Amino acid sequence: MVLSFYGYQKYGQLPAAIINGIVFLPVMLAIMVIGLSIHFNRSPVFFYALLVVIANIVVGLGLASTSSSYALVSVLLPLLVLVITLLPERGIVSIRAIPAYVILLSSIFLVIYVVVSSPSWASYALMTDWVPARYFDWTTQSQSVLIVSMLVSIAMLVICFLQPSPQVFAGFGVLVMLISQMHAGDSSASLNVYGSAGLLMCLYAVMQESWRMAYLDELTELPGRRALREKFQKMSGLYTVAMLDVDHFKKFNDSYGHDTGDAVLRMIAAKMNKVTGGGASYRYGGEEFSVVFAGKSTRDAIPHLEALREVIANSPFVINRASRRKDERKEKKNKNQSVTVTVSIGVADSNGDVTSPWDVLKLSDKALYRAKGKGRNCVCG
Ligand code: GH3
Ligand code: MG
Ligand code: MG
Repeated sequence: MVLSFYGYQKYGQLPAAIINGIVFLPVMLAIMVIGLSIHFNRSPVFFYALLVVIANIVVGLGLASTSSSYALVSVLLPLLVLVITLLPERGIVSIRAIPAYVILLSSIFLVIYVVVSSPSWASYALMTDWVPARYFDWTTQSQSVLIVSMLVSIAMLVICFLQPSPQVFAGFGVLVMLISQMHAGDSSASLNVYGSAGLLMCLYAVMQESWRMAYLDELTELPGRRALREKFQKMSGLYTVAMLDVDHFKKFNDSYGHDTGDAVLRMIAAKMNKVTGGGASYRYGGEEFSVVFAGKSTRDAIPHLEALREVIANSPFVINRASRRKDERKEKKNKNQSVTVTVSIGVADSNGDVTSPWDVLKLSDKALYRAKGKGRNCVCG
C-alpha cells in the first residue's frame, strides 16, 4: 500500500519505456487474478478484482462524466467492497452467486441512470456540503464521498480484526486503492499504479488461500498430510514421530453426532497446536494426528506428549442437549452435559534400524496399537 502511494508520486519520473510497459500491468494482473480466482473458486477476490476492472474502465474512459455520477461511482465502489466482504461465499459461476451479480448490475444501472438524467436528488445527496467546505480543500471529492469512504474503511477494519483472512485483507487493500484512485482522478498514473496495486493484493490473497487449501486441513486448520510429507522430505538426524488417536471415537460420534465429533476434533487440534517441546502437529487423517519433534529422542519427547495427553483428558467438553441421543435426553434433565475424551499416543524415534521418517511413523503406529491394548489414554514408546 505504501509502495503504491510512493509509486504514484514518482510515476512521472519513470522512463517512458517503463511507463509503456506498466500500461499493460493492470490488464495482465486482472486476467491472472480473475482466472485464478475462478479456478480456485474464491468469490470475494473475484468480485474485488472485478470492481478494480470496472473502476478502471469507468474512470479511464470517462464514462462517469458528470460530477454527481463521478461522486456516485466513488460512493458505490467502497460500498460494494463492503457488500462483497459481508456476502457469504457462494461461488462465482453458480446460481447462488446471483445476488452478487444483481447488486453489481443494479449499481451499474444506477450510475447510467444518473449520467443520463442527472436527477436532482442525486446531486443533493452526493454534492451537498454538509460541513464548511474549507476543511476539505485538499480533495476534489465531495463530502458525501469522504463520509462513505471513511465509514466503510472503519467497517472493513473491524471485519479485518474480527475475521482476519487473506481475502478480507485483500478487500481492505482494494478499498484503500479504489478510494485513492477515485480521489486522484483519471490520470494514467492513478489508474495504473492503484489499479495494479489493488490487483496485486488480490493475487497475493488467491495464492495464500490456495496454499491454505493445499496444506491446511479444513476442519482443524492444522497442517494436513501433504504438509507432513514435505516435512518428512526435509528431515534427517535425530527426530521423533508420535501418532495420536482419539479413543472410542466411533462410539462418541454415535452418541453425540458427527458435528459434535467434529467440534471435539477441533478442540483436540487446538490443544495439539500448543504442544510443548517444539513439537509440530499435523492431522494425519480422520481422528488420527501426528506430532514431529526435530532433534529429540523418544525419551525427550515423551514428557511433552504426556502433558498433551493429560491436557486433553482433563478438558471437559460441553455437549448441548440437542446433540444427545433421545434416551439420554430423557434420562438426564440438566441442560448441558460435559464429557471428556481421551487419546492414545504411540512414539518412536530415528535411533535404530530405520531409513526414513515413514519407517519411524510405522513404528509409532505399532506403539499406538500397544497403547490401545494397554487400555487407552496413555503414551507408549
Ligand atoms: P479406538 O479407541 O480403538 O481408536 O476406537 P475408535 O472408535 O476411535 O476407532 P475407529 O478407528 O474404529 O473409529 C474411528 C472413528 O472416527 C470412525 C469415524 O466415525 C470417526 N471419524 C473419523 N474422522 C472423523 C471426522 O472427521 N469427524 C468425525 N466426527 N468423526 C470422524
Ligand atoms: Mg483410528
Ligand atoms: Mg480412535
